[in-house]
Amino acid sequence: MAKTGSDISSGQSPMFFRDILGQERVLGHLRAAWKGGRLAHAYLFLGPEGVGRESVARALAAALNCTQPAAEWDACGECPSCKRMAAGTHADFLVIRPTSEHRQPQIKIGQIREFRRLTAYPPMEGGWRVALIKPAEDMQPEAANALLKTLEEPPERHLLILAAGSEAGLYQTIVSRCQKLSFSPLPSALVIRELQARRGLSREAAGFLTALSGGSLGRALALNPEELAEQRRQVFADLEKMARGSATAVLDWAKRLAKNKQEVDNFLLLAQMRYRDLLLLECGAASGLLAHQDCAADLEKEKARGNPEIWFASFAALAAAHRQLQANLNPQLTLDILGLRLQHQGVSHESR
Ligand SMILES: [Zn+2]
Repeated sequence: MAKTGSDISSGQSPMFFRDILGQERVLGHLRAAWKGGRLAHAYLFLGPEGVGRESVARALAAALNCTQPAAEWDACGECPSCKRMAAGTHADFLVIRPTSEHRQPQIKIGQIREFRRLTAYPPMEGGWRVALIKPAEDMQPEAANALLKTLEEPPERHLLILAAGSEAGLYQTIVSRCQKLSFSPLPSALVIRELQARRGLSREAAGFLTALSGGSLGRALALNPEELAEQRRQVFADLEKMARGSATAVLDWAKRLAKNKQEVDNFLLLAQMRYRDLLLLECGAASGLLAHQDCAADLEKEKARGNPEIWFASFAALAAAHRQLQANLNPQLTLDILGLRLQHQGVSHESR
């Protein structure tokens, strides 16, 4: 089923260009294209989750359909079209998302067919019909193939937006028929500021979440600072134990951790940030740059042991494990090897 805008559950998602955080380049491009009457019929919004791709699609739909847009081209928020956009009931803004009846969520050919049926008719409210397909990587091959027909013969006053993490998961035939716009990770200072304002977090706590978010405000807002602080205690304790423990202890650790993908991801990230912090401290970086600012005392203690080579090797081992897991290698095997590598680093440090 092609779903309507009402499925955008979060009333939080901005619908105005003026409320979009960062992404000035993308917005500048869209405004200039609109002013020059050169809007493409299909855009590919590339970038990580949570940096504003969906918000920009929504703001674009709102501005295109607004009956009294602001001077710098933005929706007014007052006209009937804007009110329906705000309520998520606009008939001409469609969001096509994967359905998860099966194990793997997918955008099915039926959803694209239904959208294509709609495109035979002009937009219902007389403006533009805007459809967001997200994530575009989740389209079944048949669905992508069906969409290709729309991209080859774009209907009047229709705008298609495909949101994807990268081009890698898409067919080149689709990519080549879209105008690409790259969304950047948001600057740290901006994410920290928003976290402080929206969550009432301290500078240290906001900095911690920001460091883990990879420049995605959406991801940062979804993180739970208390839970992460608790996980961090566990991660630091595990690292310490592994450096001193037996091979059996390492294998037990790997077995325990491998059961939960989220915990594995958090371990890799939190541990990598720790070694990164130590290397930064070693270079004399300001404490404001550290991810684990609120653990400064612990880091200073570790730094006093002065083993930059070991920190670097540990960081590299963690990064390698991360790559291997992304490539779908067996999690437990990957963690076994990671644990032994981390232990070996620790042991050589102890024996010096
Ligand atoms: Zn309006």
